[in-house]
Amino acid sequence: MFNNSLGQKILVIVGVVTLFNLVGLMVFYTKFQEKTILDNHRQNMDNLTDYVSRGLQSIMLSGTAEIAKDFEENLVEGKLILDFHIIRNDGSEAFQDNQTITEVNNNLGEEEFLPRDVESFKRVLDKDDPLLKEVISSKKTISYFSKLDNSDVETLTFLTPIPNEKKCRRCHGAYDKIRGVLKLTTSLESVQNAIMDTRSKALKILFLSVILSLTGIYVLIRVIVVKPVQSITSAISNVSNGNYGQSIPVTKHDELSVMARQFNMMSSEIKKSHDGLNKERNKLSTIILSAREGIIVTNEDDEVVLVNPAAERLLNKSSDKLIADGFDQIIDDPNYVTAYLETNGKNMPDSLVYNHLVIQFHAETIFDRQNKKIGSAAMIRDVTEQKQLEDQLREMSFKDKLTGIFNRRGMEDILNKEFSRSIRYNQDLSLIFFDVDHFKKFNDTHGHDLGDKVLARLGSEAISHFRKPDFPCRYGGEEFCIILTNTNSEGAYLVAEKFRQRVENMNVDGLKVTISIGVSAHPEAGAKSPEELLKLADEALYEGKRSGRNRVVLWRDVKND
Ligand code: GH3
Ligand code: MG
Ligand code: MG
Repeated sequence: MFNNSLGQKILVIVGVVTLFNLVGLMVFYTKFQEKTILDNHRQNMDNLTDYVSRGLQSIMLSGTAEIAKDFEENLVEGKLILDFHIIRNDGSEAFQDNQTITEVNNNLGEEEFLPRDVESFKRVLDKDDPLLKEVISSKKTISYFSKLDNSDVETLTFLTPIPNEKKCRRCHGAYDKIRGVLKLTTSLESVQNAIMDTRSKALKILFLSVILSLTGIYVLIRVIVVKPVQSITSAISNVSNGNYGQSIPVTKHDELSVMARQFNMMSSEIKKSHDGLNKERNKLSTIILSAREGIIVTNEDDEVVLVNPAAERLLNKSSDKLIADGFDQIIDDPNYVTAYLETNGKNMPDSLVYNHLVIQFHAETIFDRQNKKIGSAAMIRDVTEQKQLEDQLREMSFKDKLTGIFNRRGMEDILNKEFSRSIRYNQDLSLIFFDVDHFKKFNDTHGHDLGDKVLARLGSEAISHFRKPDFPCRYGGEEFCIILTNTNSEGAYLVAEKFRQRVENMNVDGLKVTISIGVSAHPEAGAKSPEELLKLADEALYEGKRSGRNRVVLWRDVKND
C-alpha cells in the first residue's frame, strides 16, 4: 500500500484508534438500542396486563364471571402471549371449580351464580412461591425473564395483583386485600429478532465506517505526510548518490515544510562545498598530472591508487604495472622503500641510481587526526642533471684551472681523509712537496705566460707520472704537493727522485726548469695531524733549497741548526 514504513505505521496507529472508537460507539449504541427495545416491550406488556386486569374486573362486575375462563383462553391464542392464568392467592388456577362460586353465593345469601357442571383443579404456582407472596404482600407487579421448558425461547412473565376493590367486596367480602394474581407470559422472540437486527445493522455500519475511515485516512496520510516525506527522502537519497543541489518545493508552513527548507539550505551548502572541493581537486589533479616529479599514492590498504605520467616516465613502467606490482616494488627494492617509510628517510641516501637516472626518492605514510593511516605517497625526482652539475661544481671547486690537478682546498680535503684512513687501516701515507727553483727569475726572464705554461706542464707531468691512487695537487703559486696513498718514505723518495729527474729533462718551448722536493711519511715521521705531516715535508723542501736546489730531501734529513 505504502512504499515506506512511516505511512504504514501511521495508518496502523490511526486505524487501530479509529477501530476502537467505532467499536466502542457501536457497542454503546447497540446496548442502548437493546435496552430501549426491552424497556418498550416491558412497558407494553405491563400496560397489557393492566388492561387484562381491568377487563377481568369489568367481566366480574358485569356478573358474567363464567366467561372469564374463555377470556383467559382466547388471550393465549395470540402469538404475543404464550401463557395466561388467573390465579388465586394460594397459587391455584381460578374459574376451574366451584369454590369461589360457593363462597360468593354464601356472601350474597342466595344462589346468584350457578355451580359448574364439570370441575377441575389446576395448580399454577406453589402456594409458598416467593414471587407470588411478594406480589400479594407488595401489591405491585413483578416481572421476570425465563426460558420455555425444552426450548431456547426467552420469555418475560408478569405477576400482577388483582386488588380487592370496594366494588368487589359485595361478592368476595373484605377479608383479602388482593383477590388473586394474573400470570401473563410473553415471548421475547420478536424482541430478540429486533435486537439481532440492530446488531447486524450496527455491524454493517461499523464495517462501512472502518472501510471509509481507513480509506480517508490513507488518502490524507499520503497527501499530507507520506508524499512530502517521500520527496524529502528521495532528495536525500539523490544527494547520497552524489546528485547534489537537490531542492524540494516548500509550499506550506508545517514541520515538514520547515524540514524541506532546512534540507534545501543543507543541500545548497553541500553543493557549494562539493563544487569547491571539485575545483580544488581539479587544480590538484592538474598539478599532479603536470608535475615533473613522479608521484605515486596508495590507499590505507597499501594499494596503489594514483600514478602520474612523470612517475611512469622516470621509472620506465606503465601505471598498470606499478599498480599491479605494489608500492614497495616501485624502485624494485622493497627493503629500501620499507626502511624509508619506517625511518622517515633518516640515514637513507638522499639519491640513488635507477633506470640510468639519478633519482631523489621521498616517501611518507600519511595519518589522519585520529592517527589512522590514510595511505602512503612517494615522490620521485630526476636529479641526474643536477647531480652532474653538482659534481662539476665540486670538481671545479677542488681543481686548479691552470694545471688540471687538485687545488689547495681539494688537497686539504683529500689529505684529511687519507690521513684518517691511514690511521684507521694502519696504512702508509706519504707527502711529496715540491717548489720550482728560481721561478721568479724565470718569470722575469721569459714572461709570466711562459711561466704559466711551465706550471701547467708540471701538472700534466705529475698526473702521468704518479699512480692512479695518488693525488697531485697545486698547493699555491709554483708549489705542488702529491699525496701518495699506501706508500712509505722509501717508495715516496724513489718516485720523487724519478719525478725530479723527469722535470729536469722536461722541455717547455726549449726552456728548462728544476724543482726541489721535500718528502714526509706517516706513520714513520710521527706526525700527529695532516698539517704536521705537511709541515715536515715543507721543511724538507726548504732544506733542499738551502742545500742547493734540484734535489729530494726526506724530513728525517732536515738539519736543525
Ligand atoms: P726559490 O728557488 O727559492 O724557490 O726561488 P723563487 O724565485 O722560486 O722564489 P719565490 O718562491 O719567492 O718566488 C716564487 C715566484 O713564483 C714568484 C712568482 O713570480 C712566481 N709565481 C707564483 N705563482 C705563479 C703563477 O701562477 N704563474 C707564474 N707565471 N708565476 C708564478
Ligand atoms: Mg715558492
Ligand atoms: Mg720557487
